[in-house]
Amino acid sequence: MHQKVVDLRQQGRIIGLVPTMGALHEGHLTLVRRAKGDGTTTVVSIFVNPRQFNNPQDLATYPRSEEDDTRLLETEGVDYVFMPSTEDLYDDIEGERKFDFGLLDKVMEGKYRPGHFEGVAQVVSRFFDIIEPHRAYFGEKDFQQLTIIQHMVKMCNFSTEIIPVAIVREPSGLALSSRNRLISEEKLLYAPTIYKILQESKKMWHETSLSPHEVEQFVINSLNNTPYLRVEYFEIVDASSLQQIKNKTESSNPVGCVACFCGEVRLIDNIKYAE
Ligand code: AMP
Repeated sequence: MHQKVVDLRQQGRIIGLVPTMGALHEGHLTLVRRAKGDGTTTVVSIFVNPRQFNNPQDLATYPRSEEDDTRLLETEGVDYVFMPSTEDLYDDIEGERKFDFGLLDKVMEGKYRPGHFEGVAQVVSRFFDIIEPHRAYFGEKDFQQLTIIQHMVKMCNFSTEIIPVAIVREPSGLALSSRNRLISEEKLLYAPTIYKILQESKKMWHETSLSPHEVEQFVINSLNNTPYLRVEYFEIVDASSLQQIKNKTESSNPVGCVACFCGEVRLIDNIKYAE
């Protein structure tokens, strides 16, 4: 793969990378279309990265559909699909990097999934070493991940430009996720409530004098009062620092970030209050 991109770069091609864990849906394909639309030679990686799973059960049940995925990517006109084995990526101890994300990985996903972002950063930095993309496309659905990757690029002096892509949703409002296919039909009826309540909280943020903490309590209570839903966290944070906001005036770019179980399946979503 590395030799291939060296050749492509010599031919003057612009390399666009879309890293995924497979089980592809329209959210992933939107990233792919963006990369193609930007005129890049598009590489999509499919790798279910064991190091970013803190829960072995979650790793074991993570959906996999490599044949369907590669067929879909072919239809989209993707140039290369990179599907390394775990050994390919991790046998080289010298490839190990040390990261310091300060407070960025101490909150939300980082707090509830210890080691998750260390695993994400290890794999993404290796992809950047191998593929040396001019641009890499990441979804805003994983808002904290996007912020941490942007930080990693600066820290490690990667020349890759990070392109954020807006969340793609079902008509019901439910954010597309590979994990949605693990939810039973009955429980899936309640999952769109997550986004409905996020939207209500945005209205509340703008139209009432409730404090950030009170808005957070509203979201947590409303979600926990919905059948099958159980909140792990909901925090209104500043988009850059990812730290919780105490007063509305504290941040020019507040984002409400949620992790919520629907049955046994853990979903994340977020909403920007500034837009
Ligand atoms: P994953 O396969 O879940 O690791 O996701 C791969 C990439 O697709 C990440 O950058 C995600 O943020 C992005 N992505 C996943 N779901 C969505 C969505 N519904 N809308 C936009 N981007 C998404």
